[in-house]
Amino acid sequence: MTGDGSQAAGGALEAPLAPLAAVIARHGLQPRRALGQHFLLDPGLCGRIARAARPGEPAVILEVGPGPGGLTRALLEAGASRIVAIEKDRRCAAALRELEARFPDRLQVIEGDALAFDIATLGCARVGIVANLPYNVGTRLLLRWLERVAPIESMTLMFQKEVALRITASGGRDYGGLSVRAQWLCACERLFDVSPKAFVPPPAVVSSVVRLVPRAAPLAPAESGALDRVTRAAFGQRRKMLRRALRGLTPDPLALLRSAGIDPEARAETLSVADFCALARAWEALQQAGGR
Ligand code: SAM
Repeated sequence: MTGDGSQAAGGALEAPLAPLAAVIARHGLQPRRALGQHFLLDPGLCGRIARAARPGEPAVILEVGPGPGGLTRALLEAGASRIVAIEKDRRCAAALRELEARFPDRLQVIEGDALAFDIATLGCARVGIVANLPYNVGTRLLLRWLERVAPIESMTLMFQKEVALRITASGGRDYGGLSVRAQWLCACERLFDVSPKAFVPPPAVVSSVVRLVPRAAPLAPAESGALDRVTRAAFGQRRKMLRRALRGLTPDPLALLRSAGIDPEARAETLSVADFCALARAWEALQQAGGR
């Protein structure tokens, strides 16, 4: 290892890769706010994120938003055998082509929008997603991946800390629909925080790396749409007791809560994910019985 990723598994006989700062200068990669560009240039930190992703395990790593390629280099160095890197910024994609040319069997760069990218096209049942996500689309991307989680083996993702706390919370003020959805489908762990100083340019807030590992089956049975409806209703009025908060969902919240075995005086942020699933099942049964 060279410490700056410059020999990213390239072998001792290969000429070292240009330092990232030189790549950024040569390709004129001035960071663009509209694309959420905050680059990680510290090879130690890139290496830490890459190792947390265990890149040797999934058959394919999908890296979203590789930017100038700091994390991509670290993933190669950490043993990823096939990386598909999708980048929206044409300038960055052009810079990444140099890395692709060095590792043609291990790295494929796609210039495109990750929001429009269908993981199924990778034709692989064991995809590991790794990303220092653009903050403006991070949550949207996660929700999209959770909609079709089957081919995903793991997701190692950097978010704003506030979003990371919402994904991993099991109660309290950070707990909400995103927590329920993510934890219903995945084991979720916040691994470590990253200071704004680690990025160029520094963002306004602290970031956190989260690892999500999809469960073999959801944590408890529930229909996805019903779970969405009950969590929205419950957290939409999170300070109210559920017997009041769920009035918009059904004219008889007490009956619904009783059939789900949930205390009508509880509040949304004290229910477990399994409780929400019970509520979703009870609500669906009520719908099917013709009651609203
Ligand atoms: N991975 C790089 C790093 O750690 O230095 C860059 C991370 S930066 C926070 C986010 C990257 O995502 C940028 O390179 C940006 O151009 C890219 N990006 C933004 N929106 C995107 C989208 N919809 N699809 C793919 N890439 C996107």
